[in-house]
Amino acid sequence: MEQLARYLLNWYNKNGRDLPWRVKGGAHPDAYAVWISEIMLQQTTVKTVLDYFDRWMRRFPTLATLANADITEVLLMWQGLGYYTRAKKIHECAKVLMEKYGGHFPKNRAELLKLPGIGPYTASSICAFAFNMPETVVDGNVIRVIARLYGITNEINRDDIYERASKLTSQKHGADYASAIMDLGATICTPTNPKCLLCPWAKECIANQQGIAEQIPVIKKPEKQKRTGTLYLIQNDKGAYYIQKRAGKGLLSGLYEFPWHYDNEPSFVGNWQDTGKTITHVFTHFHLTLHIVKGVAESGIRSDGEFVIPTELKNYPFPTLMKKVIKGL
Ligand code: SF4
Repeated sequence: MEQLARYLLNWYNKNGRDLPWRVKGGAHPDAYAVWISEIMLQQTTVKTVLDYFDRWMRRFPTLATLANADITEVLLMWQGLGYYTRAKKIHECAKVLMEKYGGHFPKNRAELLKLPGIGPYTASSICAFAFNMPETVVDGNVIRVIARLYGITNEINRDDIYERASKLTSQKHGADYASAIMDLGATICTPTNPKCLLCPWAKECIANQQGIAEQIPVIKKPEKQKRTGTLYLIQNDKGAYYIQKRAGKGLLSGLYEFPWHYDNEPSFVGNWQDTGKTITHVFTHFHLTLHIVKGVAESGIRSDGEFVIPTELKNYPFPTLMKKVIKGL
């Protein structure tokens, strides 16, 4: 086991990616940067995160600046990444860290887990990347690498993967090891065409020996439900559009939107014309298609929204679905 970790660390030393939220050869000095990057990376690819991370760190360079910021601005900076509850939790967590932890992350997994929005994966990542602890961090890349290394042809069992991955984890170089196995998955042990000839585990890897790497891992994806709805574009005589802030505690609460509803909910009454346009978005558990109508509302729509001219819409945080609507205006 130790030998495998050594091979991987040597490979990482020469070939690992240089990223702004990590430092080769040990822990990153700023747990705040590690935390933000980790939450962003749970949403999208490294390539996309690079831009978001850079903008975020320029606007909120420290925990204190984030804790003191207005939530609307936080959501605006997060706009496009999706899963807005995470941005709200980040803001909440920054406040708790400032108020109860003196502006520092606790160097303890159990204590990290008590913080808003920090689950097992993020706690392990902070321990590994910011404090160099021998924590096992398992993301999609790591699942693929471990499943192939051990030639697991059955459907993936996360506990089994975690156990196997934790036995390999370097006890001395937690940060580098966690970065290394993720980089191996992202750059060498890719979903298709893995570059096994360049892999530090090529000799030991069962999937490579058996020529079955691309058939692994076996992950069953649940079928996504399809939902439909109607979206209402209401313009005043100055050309401004009616938007409203989403209420409640749901996924998109606090973000702005054009009025809409699912088709199994009561329609809004008004003089509506079909625009012939639809907009589709894929959420984690379902596909949503909205038919867009325009016109004048008579009843059914909340009255606490506001009219905003198209050039000003960029100053409001919208979920990706609504940004697609704005693009087509
Ligand atoms: S040898 Fe190939 S399949 Fe095995 S871990 Fe390396 S890249 Fe992945």
